[in-house]
Amino acid sequence: MTTSAELIEMSERRSAHNYHPLPVVIHEAHGAWVTDVEGKRYLDCLSGYSSLNFGHGHPKIIEAARDQLDNLTLTSRAFYHDQFAQFCAGLGDLTGKDLILPMNTGAEAVETAIKVARKWGYEVKGVEPDQANIIVMEGNFHGRTTTIVSFSTDPEAHDNFGPYTPGFRLVPYGSTEAIRQAVDPNTVAVLVEPIQGEAGVLVPPDGYLSEIRELCTAQGILMIADEVQSGLGRTGQTFACDYEGVVPDIYVLGKALGGGVVPVSAIAANRDVLGIIQPGQHGSTFGGNPLACAVGIAVIELLNTGEFQARAAKLGEVLHARLRELIGRGVVEVRGRGLWAGVDIDPELATGREVSKALMARSVLAKDTHGSTIRLAPPIVVSEEDLVWAVNQLADALYELNTA
Ligand SMILES: *Cc1c(COP(=O)(O)O)cnc(C)c1O
Repeated sequence: MTTSAELIEMSERRSAHNYHPLPVVIHEAHGAWVTDVEGKRYLDCLSGYSSLNFGHGHPKIIEAARDQLDNLTLTSRAFYHDQFAQFCAGLGDLTGKDLILPMNTGAEAVETAIKVARKWGYEVKGVEPDQANIIVMEGNFHGRTTTIVSFSTDPEAHDNFGPYTPGFRLVPYGSTEAIRQAVDPNTVAVLVEPIQGEAGVLVPPDGYLSEIRELCTAQGILMIADEVQSGLGRTGQTFACDYEGVVPDIYVLGKALGGGVVPVSAIAANRDVLGIIQPGQHGSTFGGNPLACAVGIAVIELLNTGEFQARAAKLGEVLHARLRELIGRGVVEVRGRGLWAGVDIDPELATGREVSKALMARSVLAKDTHGSTIRLAPPIVVSEEDLVWAVNQLADALYELNTA
């Protein structure tokens, strides 16, 4: 058998180093637990950046995928297929929107929203040709394409990938006053993460999203909510926007929409917005393929039960209560909503990477972000017992680092 160490060495030798993975080689997974090639088990507290909200190998999702594999996997959008209508209707109902435009990755869905907003700006709002601007937030993460990294404020994501796509205005996250000042007659949209995930699970001030909604409505601007990571049950609601009763003009969805099986993303919007797209103006060979739709339908059915949202809310209270007890004991601050937490480690004590490694040694897989923050987002199917155990591992790891 090839060992983890050998597989890591071989992987590093023949792959671009665009990631810095923890030194674990996963072989199989069920629910919230993964097993490495040596047979050691770990609790997954990252969930593929919230792609695995329903856990690894959820029986309903796997069954849907398996059935579909036997029938039909790809048609391209040159033809209709028998899973497409139900996927679009289901996602339309879940979001309360008229129309769906399916893509594959989150970044593609963000690109789709940007293109739709610009086209809407020119054709409906009457913005001067090529003058549209979109207001975006400092600290944003919307993906890795050349246009998206053009407005990233993370030097690693942004630098040396120019020339950059113009037409974006950066404002500080959390300030509606800054948005108000940035708006001009050519502004077509505000693009916002309801909670900034990659930035460290930053929750904006109360009222932020509803103020953006009001501002956008008043100024005739589209509100685009990137719910790729915050959506689909993670926060204890179907969408993080639900906490403020806010309905954006465009939902951007991805990650968990693919059930941890295949990449599935989409934007959802009403006919007055998404209706501007005509044949030939946008698309994707794999977007809305039969396998993706079958998996997406299973995901939507799980969300329609409401069980995952309720469970994330309930377990989220347990998670946050336990994490708050660690403040002053190696933890400086805890943020988040539902089963999603950003934990700032005292930088004097350890880096996020060091804490992630200490957690890994204790059979918990988590990922650091931005220096000293650990992000915890276990699959929503995690048991309460395992969740508490994982936080205890963090407490013990921090205690050890404190006394080392
Ligand atoms: C992950 C993520 C994306 C990009 O999704 P990919 O599937 O990696 O392209 C976009 N927006 C947010 C908020 C994300 O977390």
